[in-house]
Amino acid sequence: MTTVKLYWQNYIDGTWSDGGAGRIDVHNPASGEVLAQQALADVADVERAVQAARRVHLSGVLSDLRPVERGRMVQAMGRYLLDHIDEIAPVLTLEQGKPLWEARIEVEGAARYFEYYGNQAETVEGRSIPLGAGYCDFTSYEPFGVSAQVIPWNYPIEMTARSLSAALATGNTVVIKTPEFTPLTNAWFAYAAEAVGLPKGAVNILCGLGHEAGAALSAHPQVNQIVFTGSVQTGVAIATAAAQNVVPCVLELGGKSAAIVHEDADLEAFENDLRWGIFFNAGQVCSAMSRVIVHANRHDELVERATNVANSLTVRPGMESPEFGPNMGAMVSHAQRDRAAGMVSEAVKVGAKVAAGGSAIDHPGAFFEPTILTGLSPDMAIANEEVFGPVLSVLSFENDAQAIEIANGTPYGLAGGVFTRDIDWAMQAAQKIRAGQVFVNEWYAGGVETPFGGYGKSGYGREKGREALWNYVQTKNIAIKIKGKI
Ligand code: NAP
Ligand code: MG
Repeated sequence: MTTVKLYWQNYIDGTWSDGGAGRIDVHNPASGEVLAQQALADVADVERAVQAARRVHLSGVLSDLRPVERGRMVQAMGRYLLDHIDEIAPVLTLEQGKPLWEARIEVEGAARYFEYYGNQAETVEGRSIPLGAGYCDFTSYEPFGVSAQVIPWNYPIEMTARSLSAALATGNTVVIKTPEFTPLTNAWFAYAAEAVGLPKGAVNILCGLGHEAGAALSAHPQVNQIVFTGSVQTGVAIATAAAQNVVPCVLELGGKSAAIVHEDADLEAFENDLRWGIFFNAGQVCSAMSRVIVHANRHDELVERATNVANSLTVRPGMESPEFGPNMGAMVSHAQRDRAAGMVSEAVKVGAKVAAGGSAIDHPGAFFEPTILTGLSPDMAIANEEVFGPVLSVLSFENDAQAIEIANGTPYGLAGGVFTRDIDWAMQAAQKIRAGQVFVNEWYAGGVETPFGGYGKSGYGREKGREALWNYVQTKNIAIKIKGKI
């Protein structure tokens, strides 16, 4: 039995503190019961956190370090998470709903970011630009200062790790706004920051309502850079606030990512892509494979296989699934579950066929059946809008041009995939799919090393990989006039 601490505070300027806006209940989505309470930050708490981060930044205590020393601290934070995985993972499952084995994968993924960006810390090098004998010119990269990071509830640990590790490795200080559904596990980043000896105020972690604390943080005039992952609507609000202060932001928004399955594809192997692509984390993944566009000649076989995959999954409370296996947990909340259910029933009203699942599960908790929808036309809402749940939309195509047209037919462009044995077709499709990431013959191929981000309404800027480092630094050019004496 995991017992969860009943009340969790915010971490501001190295001190655990109550929230000016009171407390909020955090629910266990697998039961609907209250799990714990979380302090809610108000505008004054946000102010204290930003001032603390700014003070540490201006002191130079982080930014003046030799990068290898910052890198070692960042790496040690990752090791701290792994050392505490047995404490963190159950709390993550209880607040978010995912199976315990998935929660462990998430903590390991989070640790991996600290390993990777810790390693990258000393690779951020400038260059020398020749200006003739009378000058020496070089560039250097400096941290922006205070990095504000607004975190979503689907991967609260991994998303914080992704931006926090890169920000610290490059010498920024950080204020994190955790999501109100899943704020608890972010506390371990504060423990980790203390354990590795980061100065008080370098990492601040607070929960508050999006429209209050989140809005105050993203509009704060002393925030120097913003990273946001979440919905398009909130992304637009944050980018607008960033524009008012003329600070850069990275937006990692949603998607309706499509796998194109060619006539020659290995459909047996593709079952694995279905399992991970749309049912991992109950489909609450921004780059989920939420559409499959399959050649008409293979449509029925694919639907049969997809139906079997969906029906093979047991849906149950995440704590009952400690080991990897064919199981899925609750969605994050009843509201998200009901939203998914509503989208599916709207689709059915306009002609969609339910090949598997399709309904909420009659069990206390935010459970939804693994769902496969067919009979769709590309103009239906369900084929264009993000469900953010375990719902796959299957469409079919007759010719290659049509497949690409359907794949590119939504406002999004986060990921795309192509499944075929034909390298020419794979390369052409990869070139024509408008998305920041294309998977060939394996959905989610890649890792922390590979850049990730959106085309179109899926956002801008890149997280992961070396690309992400440049979100956190600004270029300075230094030109020196040399007086000739020799
Ligand atoms: P959201 O509103 O975009 O929430 C993401 C984060 O932004 C949360 O921390 C949220 O705080 C905060 N926030 C909300 N309004 C804000 C504002 N005006 N200024 C600053 N921060 C603000 O997303 P959601 O409401 O949780 O979910 C809605 C939909 O977003 C989902 O159905 C899904 O389609 C999409 N989504 C996408 C991703 C992704 O990875 N791409 C992740 C999560 C959600 P609160 O927690 O207080 O709301
Ligand atoms: Mg919200």
